[in-house]
This record gives sequence, C-alpha cells and structure tokens, in this order.
Amino acid sequence: MDLHYDLIVIGSGPAGKRAAIQAAKIGKKVLMVEKNTIVGGVTVHTGTIPSKTLRETVLFLSGWRQRGIYGLSYKVKEHITADDLKQRLMSTLNHEIEIIQHQLMRNNVEITYGHARFDDEHSVSVEHQDGSISHFSADHFVICVGTRTHRPPKVPFDGDGIIDSDEILELKRIPRKMLVVGGGVIGIEYATIFKALDIDVTVLETNDFILGFVDREIVDELIHYLRDCNIHVRLGDQINTINRFDDGKVVVKFKSGKSMAVDTVLYAAGRQGVTDDLALEKVGIEADRRGRIPVNEDYQTVIPHIYAAGDVIGFPSLASTSMEQGRHAACHAFGAEVHSQPELFPYGIYAVPEISMVGLTEQECAERSIAYEVGIARFRETARGQIMGLRDGMLKMLFSVETQKLLGVHIIGEGATELVHIGQAVISLGGTLDYFVQTVFNYPTLAEAYKIAALDAYNRMTF
Ligand SMILES: Cc1cc2nc3c(=O)[nH]c(=O)nc-3n(C[C@H](O)[C@H](O)[C@H](O)COP(=O)(O)OP(=O)(O)OC[C@H]3O[C@@H](n4cnc5c(N)ncnc54)[C@H](O)[C@@H]3O)c2cc1C
Repeated sequence: MDLHYDLIVIGSGPAGKRAAIQAAKIGKKVLMVEKNTIVGGVTVHTGTIPSKTLRETVLFLSGWRQRGIYGLSYKVKEHITADDLKQRLMSTLNHEIEIIQHQLMRNNVEITYGHARFDDEHSVSVEHQDGSISHFSADHFVICVGTRTHRPPKVPFDGDGIIDSDEILELKRIPRKMLVVGGGVIGIEYATIFKALDIDVTVLETNDFILGFVDREIVDELIHYLRDCNIHVRLGDQINTINRFDDGKVVVKFKSGKSMAVDTVLYAAGRQGVTDDLALEKVGIEADRRGRIPVNEDYQTVIPHIYAAGDVIGFPSLASTSMEQGRHAACHAFGAEVHSQPELFPYGIYAVPEISMVGLTEQECAERSIAYEVGIARFRETARGQIMGLRDGMLKMLFSVETQKLLGVHIIGEGATELVHIGQAVISLGGTLDYFVQTVFNYPTLAEAYKIAALDAYNRMTF
C-alpha cells in the first residue's frame, strides 16, 4: 500500500472535511486522520448541530414563537424533561454523520482513525485506538484539529451540577436555576435557550460588555431583551469560589462579594486549540498560549506546505468560516484559483432572538474614517412581523455617504441568520441604497425590513 499522499488533513470537522473534499475534487490523493471514532468534529458532536437542534426543540415545545400572540403562559408541552430535549438530537446527529461519511466516500477521501502527531515536515504517525501506530507522508498538510472547552483548575467540574458546554447535551434534568459563565456566543446562546424553558438564568461575564465583535446598538437591543425576559447579566465580575453541596446545590461566590446558589453552573468561557499533542515542535510551528496556530492570508503556517484552518487559527471560529478556510487552504496548496472574502463572512449567533451580521459595524466605519449613514427598520413595522406577533427585532444597514454603497448589515430577531444573506449578496456585488429602493420584495415578509431600513437611510442622507 502506498502511504504517501498529496494531502493529509488532520481532523474531520468542517475545516478538515472541506479541505479534504476540495483537494479530492481537483484530483489529489487525500488522507483524513480523525482521532475520534466518528467523523464530524465539534460541529456535529457537541457544537453547532446539537445546540441548534436543542434550540429548535426548546422553541417548539415551549411555544416560544407563539407567545407574542397567545401570551407568556402559552406552551406546547406542559412539563418539558431532559429526555424530551434529547429525543430529536440523536436522529439529527445520525443523519448529519451519514451525510458527511457519504460525501467523503463519494469523493474518494481515505479516512484513518487515530491520533496524528508530526514526525517531521512531511510525515505523521497515527496512533490507533488499539495502540498500533501507522506512518504516513504527504506533500501538503492542513491542520484542522479545532478546539476543546477551556476548563480552569479552580472550577470543580463534575459533569452534573458544574458542566461545560460539551456536557450540556447530557443534562439529566432541567435545572430551575442556572448560572452561565461567559458572555460570548456560546454562553449567550445557551442562556437564552434555557430562559425559553422558564429557567431562572444569570450570565456572568468578566468584561464590562458581552459579544465584543457585534455592533453596539445590536448588543444594546439584546441586553434590553435579556433584561426584559429576566435574564440577569453580571458584567465585570468573576468567580471567586465555587462549591457543590450534598443537596446538589452549587454555591458560587463572586469577586465582588456577592454569592448565589444554583442547580447548574454552565461554564462557557473560552475554548483552547487542540495543539498540545500534535508534536508541532518537530516541524517548528509554535502555537500561542491558547493553542492557536498563526497563519497568513492563505492559511499557511510558517512552514509553507503545512496549512491550518478552522477554530485552531482563532476568530471567528464558526463552522461556516472554518469550511471556507479549509477550502481556501486546499485550493492554494494545489494552485487552484480561489477568491475567499473573509471581510464578507457572515456571523450568526443563534441566541433567542437570533443575531446576524455581515460587513462593517458602525465602530469599524468610525475607525476607518468612512462617512456613513444608518437606516433602521423594526420587525413590528412589517406586516409579517405583526402576523407573527413579533415584539422585538430590528434590521440596521450602513451606507457610504460618498458612494451610497451598502457597507454593513446587522440584524437581531427572528430569521436574522437567513435574512442577512440578502445584505451579503448586495454588499458582495457592490450594490447601493438604490437597489433596495427600486426592488420589490415579497409581501408580507420580514425581508421587507430591508426596504424600510433603506428608505430610513435615504431620508437621513443629504444628497
Ligand atoms: C456549543 C457550540 C455551538 C456552536 N454553534 C455554531 C453555529 O451555530 N454556527 C457555526 O457556524 N459554528 C458554531 N460553532 C462553532 C463550530 O462548531 C466550529 O467553528 C467548528 O466545529 C470548527 O471546525 P473545525 O473543523 O475547525 O474543528 P472541529 O469541529 O473542532 O473538529 C476538529 C476535529 O479534529 C480532531 N482532532 C483533534 N486533534 C487531532 C489529532 N491530533 N489527530 C486526529 N484528529 C484530531 C477532533 O477529534 C475533531 O473531530 C459552535 C461551537 C460550539 C462549541
């Protein structure tokens, strides 16, 4: 058997899958190494798909989408249990794994299961689960090993009352009171999902702000919403001690001196690149203190034929962007044309309500001294929003004063992660305010918010 490949991809998450398939599609011989026993990575097993399936299940069973019309006490199922939440999960995950396996097989990507470590710049050893070791070599590599949850030693994780975001899917019972540590994407998503189950939720964030990369006005809207639905947000505070008692309660004392007792602490503050056991020192690549690998704009590490893509290179750490980075790396490695536009990567936050954005924020326009004008539409101004009983939701667009080109779109509310793609297409094609003024949108739709926001911007512009 020839154990030399054009490309070896380490990791089978979104970045690895896309890199492998892209290289195979341009006729290259590709090996994927996966240390888990199943392909898919974080996105399939503990991240994107499980959390979004959980979100859909919670929103359905809690009747959340109908509450604007039938009142806050409306529910589809009265007593929702942890088993109710898990039911939909397994079938979704199994289906997703099947699709990935089929895609890899169809494209002739070879897979070997085991832990990869570099031997030198052109070869890796793979330690299989039975302890045996295989050796493979390649012209190129893409490191797509992703991240694991950050678990500080002072937090006594027990997989039950004190858990990380990987363990939340194994919840044995629905807590009545919960502390979510971390006001990043994962913390805010889970805090709002559990609030939809009428759980008493507190979010703790060390910084004085949450979701630092999101447009401030959208974050203000979110904070208003969180307060409105009684999610307590503790900013600028930290855990001092955390203890679990025999009655199951977890008592958390904060640096500020305040303390609280909860049923569950969900620790969702940060993730760490899985680079500590890759033998990177053998190839002269150095990860930073959070395990992230530095790369250039083509995802090459300091060793040009070794690329890194996905969460292991850091922000934005999304499945969508990881896939594109993997594709770009594979194309670049084999000289295929590639035109990624990282500045137009959309970001989706599946909180309740959803948030999504593409392009520049107001803060970025100001930093770059770009003169801009803003147009805003509230979802309740659209007929569709009224029909759906939406109380919240807004769409905000930024236009260049000089060229009238669309610079950025920021949305919070139902369907935000879908709606954003209209704005993404317009920005990408260099469209202007005029496009929205002249174009007819289906009626009634939430997309109509684009027209309303554009007219708002038009009225503010001095031509
Ligand atoms: C709770 C949660 C919710 C999320 N929600 C979203 C969302 O809604 N939308 C979105 O776009 N993104 C979301 N993400 C992010 C998304 O899951 C990640 O961006 C994505 O999984 C990163 O893909 P990746 O290929 O870089 O790495 P991963 O998916 O982490 O895959 C890495 C793979 O490498 C393997 N591996 C590691 N080391 C080795 C080794 N030495 N040898 C062999 N194999 C190895 C691992 O076993 C793993 O299978 C979420 C993440 C979390 C945690």
